[in-house]
Amino acid sequence: MKYDYLIVGSGLFGATFANLAHNAGKKVLVIDKRPNVAGNIYTENIEGINVHKYGAHIFHTDYKDVWDYVNSFVEFNRYTNSPVARIGNEIYNMPFNMNTFSKIWNDVFTPEDALRHIEEEKKEITGEPTNLEEQAISLVGRTIYEKLIKGYTEKQWNRDCKDLPPFIIKRLPVRLIYDNNYFNDKYQGVPVGGYTKLVEAMLDGIEVKLNTDFFDNKEEYMNMADKVVYTGALDEYFDYKLGKLEYRSLKFDTKVFDKVNYQGNAVVNYTGHEVDYTRVIEHKHFEFDSTSPKTVVTFEYPSDYVEGMEKYYTVNDDKNNKLADEYRELSKSEDKVIFGGRLAEYKYYDMDDVIKSAMNVFKEEL
Ligand code: FAD
Ligand code: UDP
Repeated sequence: MKYDYLIVGSGLFGATFANLAHNAGKKVLVIDKRPNVAGNIYTENIEGINVHKYGAHIFHTDYKDVWDYVNSFVEFNRYTNSPVARIGNEIYNMPFNMNTFSKIWNDVFTPEDALRHIEEEKKEITGEPTNLEEQAISLVGRTIYEKLIKGYTEKQWNRDCKDLPPFIIKRLPVRLIYDNNYFNDKYQGVPVGGYTKLVEAMLDGIEVKLNTDFFDNKEEYMNMADKVVYTGALDEYFDYKLGKLEYRSLKFDTKVFDKVNYQGNAVVNYTGHEVDYTRVIEHKHFEFDSTSPKTVVTFEYPSDYVEGMEKYYTVNDDKNNKLADEYRELSKSEDKVIFGGRLAEYKYYDMDDVIKSAMNVFKEEL
């Protein structure tokens, strides 16, 4: 065998595994069908600004080892995600915190005032929430659900909130303090100079072939290495023989404006149906750039997945989870293949969890 590991995909799972294996003296080849490394965290320089081409990414983690690991490649800045939500001509702070509550209800000054409203409004939900609507109302009450959650979620998933699983909304913090930080994790930031630099540093010294699709020469690639680390789509690996898993996609409309500051924040969520986009991203604010004369802004439109688009989000409802389980069962017989990352595990994964998972899988390999 020419290589110890053939790694399909240069996203964070592939790059982490490749880096650890290379450091352990293994011979590694990374292939990716895209013209660039870094998978969905790829950043492209436009007008001197690092543009998050496949969606805005903020690194946040509670794992000290993962934080130290990424900081060993590049410096991270102090960016803290604090999106604002716009509905019509009203602006609210996210995530749901005292700033939000005091603007929603004009008699809220203290945490007790906020709790009184939430407790009153959540009375309509009895028992364990069984769908996203019930979960949202039991977290923050109906008023906030209708202004800041319902429209955004329906646009994002193209489904009624009653037909979505509760876990999607559970990850958003609800805080009784005046704190607009979107994440609870201990460590947070964005790589200075963009994410591509991070992945390039991880892959330093490793052979990488771009514009190379594993399925164009599957046989050949399978025979090139002792083990294959596959980070592409789970159903695609098996040629969809049990049926197709569902995904949600996104369309990004990126514009350059001839002004220094377009919206005053990196992320503005549009939570109503008056516009079709869910988020507007002004990339320069991720890196505190207040001097470039131009600004690059991306309007993010959720979309059904159709052939040829990117598979951004897995749809983890019962039907798709069951099909994914059947594929996972099949994957057990592929003893020289490791399936890792969001597509191959069909899992809603943050960046730090993807790195952690690759670290754990590599440890087991050793
Ligand atoms: P990917 O990055 O998708 O990498 C897979 C790679 O495999 C790709 O480069 C692909 O081209 C390649 N590949 C696939 N099939 C083949 C094939 N047949 N042959 C060759 N190559 C192939 N996480 C956070 O922690 N914070 C955030 O703020 C955040 N924001 C997000 C915003 C959006 C819009 C989305 C969609 C996700 C976000 N995430 C965020 C999640 C984050 O993107 C993922 O956790 C992470 O990028 C997954 O890494 P991965 O290696 O599993 O997959
Ligand atoms: N969400 C919402 N309003 C917002 C932001 C998020 O209702 O302004 C809901 C929505 O259902 C979304 C979920 O919270 O799918 C998770 O949001 P998050 O920003 O964590 O998702 P991401 O798109 O970054 O994975």
